Amino acid sequence: MKKLRIDLHNHTYLCNHASGTMQEYIQKAIEFGIDVFGFSCHAPMNFDPKYRMSFEDMIIYENEIFRLQEEFKDKIKILFAYEVDFLEGFIDDKVINKDVDYFIGSVHFIDKWGFDNPEFIGRYDDMDIDDIWQKYFDAISLMAKSGLFDIAGHLDLLKVFKFLPTKDVRLLAKNALKAIKKADMTIEINTAGLRKPIEEIYPSRPLIEEMYELDIPITFGSDAHKIEHIGHGYDEAVSIAKEIGYSKIMTFKNRDKQLLNF
Ligand SMILES: [Zn+2]
Ligand SMILES: [Zn+2]
Repeated sequence: MKKLRIDLHNHTYLCNHASGTMQEYIQKAIEFGIDVFGFSCHAPMNFDPKYRMSFEDMIIYENEIFRLQEEFKDKIKILFAYEVDFLEGFIDDKVINKDVDYFIGSVHFIDKWGFDNPEFIGRYDDMDIDDIWQKYFDAISLMAKSGLFDIAGHLDLLKVFKFLPTKDVRLLAKNALKAIKKADMTIEINTAGLRKPIEEIYPSRPLIEEMYELDIPITFGSDAHKIEHIGHGYDEAVSIAKEIGYSKIMTFKNRDKQLLNF
């Protein structure tokens, strides 16, 4: 029996740091055997506009998704989503009121510091590393408590440049995981970390084990910014999830959830 493949985290050229057309992403996804593919590009916001689509681009993005849904409806299910930055004061109603299939909530900033941007890597020297990690997971907790999102994006993104905590990451993440559970959210197994200095899936295995203990559902995302990212690391993500005990993955339609075998 063919195994179900789901990839719910994919970007587009509209965010100014990704390449390839949206149609090419779909063709690659079909080639790789993906059954459910979600576009979840960086939503516009009035902060750091260089790394996201503009408010004016939303219509182009949405129309192209709807066109592709129709054109490829016999081959692949295409979902409409946004990856939204959880940055207080900058979450925009024009985004959050959209009738999406799901929202990914992600923390890319700690007190407006873009910690995953190599341009600002010097800031890691300014603070105690465990304090940075705690601040990061506190932001994740607030993101979950906001109740605005369906999926928590790349849960331990802060490890991207290998600035790892000295404390046990499971303790640092404890309250964030509880908040995610309480908010009934899903956590993605995101393979982009394999392409980064950390060379590891987000989140790390000990965190996925904690998630499993808490019965938090998972889904998969390649966080593709290039055509060749689609499917990259997928099999590794699946084996880790299965080894830990997961047998179902979450998908979404109009913000309704559905757990499927994978
Ligand atoms: Zn991006
Ligand atoms: Zn992200």
